[in-house]
Amino acid sequence: MTGNAAARPVPAWVPGFWLIALVLTFIVVPASPAHASDINPDPRRHVNNMHFASAGYGEEDEQFCVESHDTGKLSNSSAKAFLNETLVELEDYKIWDGTGDWRIDLRAAQYNCTAYDPDTRNSIEIEVHYAWDWSSKCGGSTGYYNCVVFDQPVWNPAFGHTDSNWSYVYLVFSSGGELSSKGRAFINHEFGHVFGLQDAGDCSPPSLMHSALVGYACTNWMNPYPSSADFGSVVTVMNGV
Ligand SMILES: [Zn+2]
Repeated sequence: MTGNAAARPVPAWVPGFWLIALVLTFIVVPASPAHASDINPDPRRHVNNMHFASAGYGEEDEQFCVESHDTGKLSNSSAKAFLNETLVELEDYKIWDGTGDWRIDLRAAQYNCTAYDPDTRNSIEIEVHYAWDWSSKCGGSTGYYNCVVFDQPVWNPAFGHTDSNWSYVYLVFSSGGELSSKGRAFINHEFGHVFGLQDAGDCSPPSLMHSALVGYACTNWMNPYPSSADFGSVVTVMNGV
């Protein structure tokens, strides 16, 4: 494989699990809505704050900080600027920011993650880490996979499920860490995970979660930003699955 890195490895048990889940789905819900096909059924795999909005700047916003683990390759300020452009500053239809009537309200922290004292750092919902290799977090061969890891599960009484206070986005310089259209595609894909989407699913409807841009099979969504189905699925997660 050359350069065409995938977003996340699929463990061997997944196909069997999905076969069972698919059978159960057809038994229980004969006509499940197609737009929900890429929602992760495990609520621990989305961030808690995406359900809630603050007026203006508030504690229900999704703050993100950046950490480059090789500042000779990529400075924290360059990483932050590119992430902020990708997630917040581009045209509305290309960005996660503002999704669901601003229940997603992304804000870049002023400093890199490790510059904060522990209490302040704990108040930041999303950390984005750049390095050459994240195989210790994401599995696979050296330097290949990007991934998202969730932490700090929290009971969410408003929605009757346990979701997660924190998420960690790990980007490798060979794909998700590029300051390019390819890097943007991976950032938006990984943030799709942060907001409760998963890789599994067929090619309909078009989705960045299954796109060939990020190492999957589907060529019907080749834009480096979320599809309308992706935005819709995230709103479904917000409303409670
Ligand atoms: Zn939730």
